[in-house]
Amino acid sequence: MSTTSPWEAALSQLDEAAAVLNLDPGVHDVLRNPKRVLTVAVPVRHDDESVRVYTGYRVHHNTSRGPSKGGIRYHPTVTMDEVKALAMWMTWKCAIVGIPYGGAKGGVVVDPKVLSKRELEKLTRRYAAEILPLIGPDRDIPAPDVGTDAQIMAWIMDTYSMNVGHSALGVVTGKPLSVGGSAGRADATSRGVMYVTEATLKHQGRKVDETTVAVQGYGKVGAPSVRLLEDLGCIVVAVSDVHGGVANPRGLSSKGLAAHHADTGTVVGFPGGEDITNEELLEIDCDVLVPAALEGQITDDNADRIRAEIIVEAANGPTTPAADEILKDRGVLVVPDILANSGGVTVSYFEWVQDLQAYFWDEDEVNRKLRAIMERAYLDVLASAEEHKVKMRTAATILGVGRVAEAHQTRGLFP
Ligand code: NAD
Repeated sequence: MSTTSPWEAALSQLDEAAAVLNLDPGVHDVLRNPKRVLTVAVPVRHDDESVRVYTGYRVHHNTSRGPSKGGIRYHPTVTMDEVKALAMWMTWKCAIVGIPYGGAKGGVVVDPKVLSKRELEKLTRRYAAEILPLIGPDRDIPAPDVGTDAQIMAWIMDTYSMNVGHSALGVVTGKPLSVGGSAGRADATSRGVMYVTEATLKHQGRKVDETTVAVQGYGKVGAPSVRLLEDLGCIVVAVSDVHGGVANPRGLSSKGLAAHHADTGTVVGFPGGEDITNEELLEIDCDVLVPAALEGQITDDNADRIRAEIIVEAANGPTTPAADEILKDRGVLVVPDILANSGGVTVSYFEWVQDLQAYFWDEDEVNRKLRAIMERAYLDVLASAEEHKVKMRTAATILGVGRVAEAHQTRGLFP
């Protein structure tokens, strides 16, 4: 198996798009380099009085189109390399959906599951204080990612607000509704995945109610995706989380699965299906595979055993470049992350707009506006694929890179 790091994968995707676009070498060089990277030490006094220093990062990849935007990840395997890749993907993603942001990402090398709530709050507030010079409603707006949630966003908002001396709702998105969150934000990434899946099935002339789906990951993105894809009419035949998976060729009940997960903390052991491994989930017989966990899940090691005909990337970077080539040769359609999961940042943008205007919309309005943006972006990527005769990932990257390059060149190079 080739071991491409997320950053190497992101660079190779950019290089491929730059070649098709015949991008100016100077602009290409600007886009290959993150604008700012910050590493911070985050000391935390634990409940047993011991002190441990965690490492945190915040990266701004590019801000040509507006303030930077991107999630914060708490996971033991976080690296600067991963955060840089995720920040670059955010830049293209925001451009693809046409929202006025650049790309950023942050992370802390920590397993949040082993910390008490008090320790998690201290870690979050200290990390927020350390990255304070980089963030702000006009500057850089974080959001949740793997291992972080709405409560963590509320602590970041409060820490920032205490430092600037007034309540700044627009400094983070994905907040609870009580502190300036948006209706529909919690399901937004998954709802976007549903809209893009629906558009893809329609484009391919497939019947939604005959479409079988497998979802890897049962977190903030995976769990609502299972429910929403079932609502759409698809048959969800397999689901997994970090502990393993469960499958039933006749379909798993999303309600039953949610109740089992709430009771046990895992989808494993759900009585409505048979237990399977994560490897088995990826290779299961289904029409649509939705990776919704971490990067590097579909590699040159397993790509030729994937039986799905369509992969809708809810996670960021789940497919390595080598696997991408194998899937392309095998005729598997990959709907890329920077399009498929852009519903999250789109509703984060809606949340920020509502916070800045102090005027809030109802969920129907949020979902309607989200659908319009996702369908437009899907058609723009399809048009780019047809124009350049490339696979959807390259088409999406070309679209994003082209828009960012145009903004960069229109502004001109400072000084
Ligand atoms: P999360 O922490 O809420 O959930 C992650 C899930 O993945 C958990 O169920 C975990 O058990 C599972 N998992 C971890 N390792 C696994 C493995 N090896 N096999 C199977 N499952 C595994 O994170 P999330 O916010 O749902 O993010 C998931 C992915 O979606 C990430 O790639 C993230 O960057 C991307 N994403 C998230 C958002 C968002 O709004 N949260 C938006 C866009 C993209």
